[in-house]
Amino acid sequence: MTGWIIYHEALKNKENAFEWMIEEGKKFNLNIEIKFLEKFNIIAHDDISVFYEGAIVQVPDFVLMRCYDIDLGQALQYCGSRVFNKPSAMELSMDKWKTHAILSKNKIPTPKTLKVRRSDVIFGYIKEMIGVPFVMKTPIGSKGEGIYLIYNQQDIDSLLEKEKSEFFICQEYIEESSGEDIRVHVIGDRVVAAIKRSSNGDFRSNFSLGGNAEKISISKGMEELAIEGTKALGLEIAGVDILLGKNGELICEINGNAGFITVWKCTDVSIPNEIMKYISNSMKTKKKGDGINC
Ligand code: ADP
Ligand code: MG
Repeated sequence: MTGWIIYHEALKNKENAFEWMIEEGKKFNLNIEIKFLEKFNIIAHDDISVFYEGAIVQVPDFVLMRCYDIDLGQALQYCGSRVFNKPSAMELSMDKWKTHAILSKNKIPTPKTLKVRRSDVIFGYIKEMIGVPFVMKTPIGSKGEGIYLIYNQQDIDSLLEKEKSEFFICQEYIEESSGEDIRVHVIGDRVVAAIKRSSNGDFRSNFSLGGNAEKISISKGMEELAIEGTKALGLEIAGVDILLGKNGELICEINGNAGFITVWKCTDVSIPNEIMKYISNSMKTKKKGDGINC
């Protein structure tokens, strides 16, 4: 069985899991090649073709997207690859508004969230809708970037100077969880690991901002919440961020491309191994090109 794992090229020069992925793949007879997003082109004319480094290529049996490119994921599906995660699910996970909308529609607990146009970011209006302080986010972003705690109009003004997004989401601040969250890794319909992340003084608990992470065992209820959220988005491989509010657990975001180096350091769980096991099993039960209409 052949597979590609697609990353941003910039990862070449950083701590990465390329070899780790390839080695774990071999254990399940998956022959993996690492590819870089920036080297792909796609063309639609009568049919769909995929080019890599300027030459047309045959797509492999499966592709694991370790970056967000919905159009490329869709083109690979159209050409017959089974794509993990499905592009339709990645689209929902990439955009924080879309995630909150589908979770709310499915009655899955999530902080109250308001989508606002840039011209409507008016402190008094948001205060009335969700209270103060509130969290403001650019809909697309990661690693805690574009996430702000807002107390007044001046905070909004300085945010608007930095962020050029046309839309923002404004969200109820879950104060009880300030600086802490729980990252739950879900693969298929199973929780494979969970860690608690804590910051050093920031309300954002992202490890990349210099926080701490430790292994944690979570309740059955929290496991179910993470699995339910993952399924609602249609993801198969996910990192679910959970906040603990005064009325219970809430999903903060669901990452379709969660990192796994921190979780490995804290728990010894090899997410690459779990991913390859899952892909191998899925490929046995599903035919090439499955998911085209998803
Ligand atoms: P990113 O994609 O950048 O990780 P998140 O939406 O997960 O963005 O927010 C980053 C961190 O900020 C979260 O892990 C959490 O610690 C904190 N945070 C985000 N939203 C809230 C909220 N509504 N209430 C309290 N803390 C929050
Ligand atoms: Mg997050």
